[in-house]
Amino acid sequence: MTSAEHDGRPGRILLVEDDAVAAHFAMHVLGRQGGFEVVHTPDPAVALQRVSSEAWDLVLTDAELPGMTGLELLEAVRRLSPGLPIAVITAHEPGETTVQALRKRADEFLQKPVRPDRLLAAAVSLVAKGRAARLAARQAVLAIGTHPGDVETGTAGTLLAHRGIGHKVSILTLTRGHGTTSGASGGSGQGGRAGGSEMAALALGATLFLEDLQDTSFEDGGTAASVIRRVIETVRPTAIYTHSLHDARLDHRSTHRAAMLAAREIGSVYCFQSPSATAEFRPTRFVTIDEQVERKLLAVKAFASRGQARDCLEQDLVESTARQWSRPGGGRYAEAFEVIRENAAAAGQPAGYGRSLTA
Ligand SMILES: [Zn+2]
Repeated sequence: MTSAEHDGRPGRILLVEDDAVAAHFAMHVLGRQGGFEVVHTPDPAVALQRVSSEAWDLVLTDAELPGMTGLELLEAVRRLSPGLPIAVITAHEPGETTVQALRKRADEFLQKPVRPDRLLAAAVSLVAKGRAARLAARQAVLAIGTHPGDVETGTAGTLLAHRGIGHKVSILTLTRGHGTTSGASGGSGQGGRAGGSEMAALALGATLFLEDLQDTSFEDGGTAASVIRRVIETVRPTAIYTHSLHDARLDHRSTHRAAMLAAREIGSVYCFQSPSATAEFRPTRFVTIDEQVERKLLAVKAFASRGQARDCLEQDLVESTARQWSRPGGGRYAEAFEVIRENAAAAGQPAGYGRSLTA
């Protein structure tokens, strides 16, 4: 199980200690003085069960326990929750073999008797260290589209691949439908496409931000950019997907420009392809979506089945486009992206291969 997320709480500590006096001491220092939530068990088996089923910030364990050595417990906790800090307290002499092994594997090693301020300082530091490490390892992706269905058509398979490796995925759709921004072909039913967005987000395991911007918001560009900035502050993405500048639709290009303004600080930015893409769309990154294509088509269908205008959404086109982009790589289906920039540390992105079809 993962460790507790940071939400302003001082943290949860699991205390494994069979000595009642030592347990009382640690609970008093960490709980009463430190403000931590401390849960105590003398039983290492119970401790492992709770590590596997609950979120923790720190395990503090005695080196000598009934039924399991401190080292065995430590190794088992490491397997269950690799990022969870572990501190060991022992009454053993520093020279002993068990102590040496524990010292090597533990994040912190404390010799009894432990001074209260030393114990508290160690706990505060380990909880902070664990949270920082989890934050650094966390990846979040934000895909930004003008109309309901744009993101799903362009990059649903890749978003699913992100989900598959544990990334948090969010979708920001700036308008409720084509009628509101294209000025042509009438309204496409506010409820219909909005409902489609929700269904599609559900199918993709994504968090949906559905805005209701009008034509004028795109003319000045600033409104769209400030909406995007606000969502970026909430989601804190490490990667952004949005429209390409190489698109025949002005409102798609406006979204691209607004996203570039708002996402200046984001390390990785990619542009997906819309059916309205021009011949200048030159992708250099391709993500195989063989395993995701079925679910992608399901997400796209959430819009098509509502009898919407088809200018951004054509299911057979979605499938044949995915077939076409698979040519440079091995798989059957792929999505193609222009790379605006890519963080060198973009490790953990879905496997892509970078050979341009047009080069
Ligand atoms: Zn569109």
